[in-house]
Amino acid sequence: MTPDLEQRVGRWLARFEQALREPGAASLRALFREDSHWRDVLALTWTIRTLSGADTLLPELQHCAARECPRNLRIDPSRTPPRKVTRAGAETLEAIFTFETQSGRGNGVLRLDPEGKAWTLLTALDAIKGHEEQVGKARPKGESYSRDFRGPNWLDQRRAAQRYDDRDPAVLVVGGGHAGLSIAARLTQLGIDALIVDRWPRIGDNWRRRYHALTLHNQMQVNHLPYLPFPPNFPTYIPKDKLAGWFEAYVEAMELNYWAGSEFEGGDYDEDAGRWRVALRRADGTRREMRPRHVVLASGVSGIPVMPELPGLTDFRGTVLHSGQYDDGEHWRGRRALVVGTGNSGHDIAQDLHSAGCAVTLVQRNPTLITNIEPSAQLAYALYDEGPPLEDCDLITVSVPLPLLRKAHQMHTARARELDRPLLESLERIGFKLAYGEDGTGWQFLYLNRGGGYYFNVGCSELVAEGRIGLAQFSDFEAFVGDGARLRDGRILQADLVVLATGYQGPQALVRKLFGGAIAERVGPIWGFGEHQELRNMFQRTPQPGLWLIAGSFAQCRIYSKYLALQILASELGMLPERRAALEAGTIPG
Ligand SMILES: Cc1cc2nc3c(=O)[nH]c(=O)nc-3n(C[C@H](O)[C@H](O)[C@H](O)COP(=O)(O)OP(=O)(O)OC[C@H]3O[C@@H](n4cnc5c(N)ncnc54)[C@H](O)[C@@H]3O)c2cc1C
Repeated sequence: MTPDLEQRVGRWLARFEQALREPGAASLRALFREDSHWRDVLALTWTIRTLSGADTLLPELQHCAARECPRNLRIDPSRTPPRKVTRAGAETLEAIFTFETQSGRGNGVLRLDPEGKAWTLLTALDAIKGHEEQVGKARPKGESYSRDFRGPNWLDQRRAAQRYDDRDPAVLVVGGGHAGLSIAARLTQLGIDALIVDRWPRIGDNWRRRYHALTLHNQMQVNHLPYLPFPPNFPTYIPKDKLAGWFEAYVEAMELNYWAGSEFEGGDYDEDAGRWRVALRRADGTRREMRPRHVVLASGVSGIPVMPELPGLTDFRGTVLHSGQYDDGEHWRGRRALVVGTGNSGHDIAQDLHSAGCAVTLVQRNPTLITNIEPSAQLAYALYDEGPPLEDCDLITVSVPLPLLRKAHQMHTARARELDRPLLESLERIGFKLAYGEDGTGWQFLYLNRGGGYYFNVGCSELVAEGRIGLAQFSDFEAFVGDGARLRDGRILQADLVVLATGYQGPQALVRKLFGGAIAERVGPIWGFGEHQELRNMFQRTPQPGLWLIAGSFAQCRIYSKYLALQILASELGMLPERRAALEAGTIPG
């Protein structure tokens, strides 16, 4: 640790703790820049929110501090020491610290400017006192199955736990992709009974069933699941079947309860009992009703396909598939295909068909962001190569407030544009319409705001630029006809197959399908940024009691599953403000 940097941070933390206790705001204000940001992740507000500008954040910080009494703010000696780094183009002194509140232990990240004032502050809950994770020194001792030689052993107990013959889980997790695995693993470590249900017959099928050549787009070090990093021999870009196998190993190692082949059919909420009434259809056709207190939707975005009504498509005599139904190009060898949509799915399917010997034309409907998978698409993850351990990188990621994130991504996008210039120019030359995201914020914000609109190039763009995969603009289409599509100039693009790589309806449509219109209206829009500069209804309480959502990248789910699990634990303990009020008023039983 550099003593000077350590002293500067230590001094700031001590003055901050003191200022929070003092009446009046003058000493607190002296510690913050006018354009500072405070992100709280449960520690002081029991919500996830970001406030920007000293005038806005300081009164709120003082108000919350009076209630939660943050204290013992210290540099965490077990984590990356304070260091000078560049974030969103500005040099800053960045430090990880710990603290306590009335109910929990927290950690945070502070960024100081050269004058020693706070630029950004993160306060995040790490654990609820007395309810820590059952890991490390708090690991299970195994007495329940190792002391009584005639009693049930570990396997007997695991099997009984998974059957749910005589009980319902506290939490039902719908979907066993990485989102579902992450939240179930976190809940299990906190001692909360959680069951994952997934409609596919085998754990990992959500990846196994995707196209033949699939490998992950981000590098291995960004994609670890919670607690159990990938083994060091795993390839940089993990292939889908290897990932599927890892999911099976993960469920076994983390002792997760997982019902494969089980469809969640929907449910309704019993306000009086504070429980859901949900219906499951098992692989053998039997049905089971359950009454969990919480439902976590981890069902991905691939719920309800968008099937646009394209002119004349019903007249087309060939096969029409949504991208979600597409499996393998081999069936289309020697045939002709039109792939409508130029996001990741459209490009990947076009490349798969082309490599199988099918004559493909990609049909562009909207300008699309194209970025090479390497190095451009990896620029956003440079932090994970800086050296700090994964846990510290994750906390630093959480600590970046939205305005800085936007700035950082504008810089990555500009850099990627330089790096990818030859490819982008070759695409423009053949009429491909390029985009760079709102205000040039690039693919990350396209993903966070609308879940798509970009392609990580793994070779398809070169095939398009060289004319080996055809390109047509949808605006030049007049209508689909029996043997393909007729263009406005009268030409016919012949086709045996039309693939609609047109995306999926948002999660609100899925909530409506599973729980009905009233609950969907109550919850409101999901994903995309909303109030308090955070993703709407993700990873935190929704307006519907007992309904939670988790989705996103491996990294997002690894990071935010922790906070989602802590909120469910707090709800179970009656510590969340609304549940505490309802318990005290006796409107729901404890
Ligand atoms: C080529 C490609 C590369 C990618 N690379 C990366 C990468 O490197 N890093 C990264 O972070 N992301 C990557 N992604 C994106 C993303 O992480 C995945 O799409 C991921 O599958 C999303 O995970 P999930 O758990 O949210 O949803 P899913 O994987 O879609 O899982 C949802 C599960 O819910 C189940 N389900 C849904 N509804 C029900 C129901 N009613 N009842 C029972 N079960 C239900 C489904 O069967 C499914 O198994 C990539 C995607 C693709 C296509």
